[in-house]
Amino acid sequence: MSINIAIDGPSGAGKSTIAKMLARKMEYVYVDTGALYRSIALYMIRNGVDMQNSAEVAEKLSGVDIRLAYENGSQQVILCGENVSELIRTPEISMGASKVSAIPEVRSFLLDLQKDIAQKNNIIMDGRDIGTVVLPNADVKIFLTASAEKRAERRYKELHEKGDPSTYEEVLADINRRDYNDTHRETAPLKKAEGAVEIDTSELTLEQSAQAIAEAIEKRLKLKSAEKKQEPSARREMLDFSGIRPVTDPKKYSRVKLFFYTILRAIVTLVYKIKFKFVIVGKENIVQTGSVVIASNHRTDRDPIWGSLAVRTPCSYMAKEELFKGPKPFVALIKFMGAFPVERGSGDTGVIGTSIEKLQIGRNLMIFPEGTRSKDGKLGKGKTGVALIAALAQVPVVPMAICFKGEKPKFRQKIIIAYGKAIRPDELKISSSDLRQLKEVKKKIMGSIAELVDENVNKL
Ligand code: C5P
Repeated sequence: MSINIAIDGPSGAGKSTIAKMLARKMEYVYVDTGALYRSIALYMIRNGVDMQNSAEVAEKLSGVDIRLAYENGSQQVILCGENVSELIRTPEISMGASKVSAIPEVRSFLLDLQKDIAQKNNIIMDGRDIGTVVLPNADVKIFLTASAEKRAERRYKELHEKGDPSTYEEVLADINRRDYNDTHRETAPLKKAEGAVEIDTSELTLEQSAQAIAEAIEKRLKLKSAEKKQEPSARREMLDFSGIRPVTDPKKYSRVKLFFYTILRAIVTLVYKIKFKFVIVGKENIVQTGSVVIASNHRTDRDPIWGSLAVRTPCSYMAKEELFKGPKPFVALIKFMGAFPVERGSGDTGVIGTSIEKLQIGRNLMIFPEGTRSKDGKLGKGKTGVALIAALAQVPVVPMAICFKGEKPKFRQKIIIAYGKAIRPDELKISSSDLRQLKEVKKKIMGSIAELVDENVNKL
């Protein structure tokens, strides 16, 4: 059985450069699927086909013959007998590829070719729908992102070096347009596949990005091969430190970002202070150095923001995917405040890795162990994920309680945000992520949240 690694992400996130590097190192076949869509665009341009006209493009597909060949490990695309690998690297073809790739007939035309090559070889395949459509059962799925500005900057440099006259603004506009096309098309839109590890390369060099991906691949492959050997009941034990390091020397959070974050925090605090009567209790318990887990009860979608207002270092938090489909200003706000998506009920262990990475870069991690909001304020049982993360990262856990009367706080209603005494990693007494131990730790954390809630609801 061949091993398949899927790397998806928007244009310019660094997929192809990194995938190529890793494939060479791992002696895998690298498949750049973008080149296939590009070749179809070239074919259509050469044949005077209007690429907005789906029916015409679909009809002309019968004349397209695409093959992939490899020269010294480097992918060559042969279009109707001609090697077009270089010709397809122009902005005009990029935009053409973006257009033809939205046509369902084009996608199904290329599907078998991609599946076939993956079945026969150990491959690293990059594209937009590899983890979601082409290889939904890939052994490893990576979702590589970076801000549009960073990607445009990189692409601009690349084009500039080749003598292309495009300006940075043109490249950025191009990237934004392609992002829009890729994420809004009906067939196989670009999105993070279930179980994919998300890596943001905005602040990483090429080498650091490659390193992060190589580590994620290694971790997943190890876990996979171990899972194959284990009985299902023993699988949970496999989570045991699966390559994830304790947070020992977290990076300092960027001063510039911190500056903007502090301003934003002040503005948001003001807005909420006008809207509600906020009382913050136990401020002295907040570990202001960053890289701590803040574990709280869960009452509203705004909890992570409210809980972050008194904390100097930014908090990351898992948020259900649906929230990222909300109003744009809200999505921008929660992202800046540190939200990252988690697919509920998917049992996605990647989210544990992402959580630890957030702690490693100096952010705090806010966790709502109950998973869902409590409408009446009663604290639920909580899941063991919080204990697993605390165990693997070996960081302090600060309990937090969000208290107000009723289901939703009304205008000028009193809200208490209370922080309890931090539980140190040694107090948690975890030596492994054995399920029994984790349950004990979870109980301890939930117990301190419950105490805080009880203490503060009386003050409402
Ligand atoms: O990755 P690259 O920029 O070469 O891809 C060119 C275009 O092909 C993309 O903008 C995207 O619209 C399309 N594409 C796709 N699905 C893939 C790979 C590429 O839709 N798997």
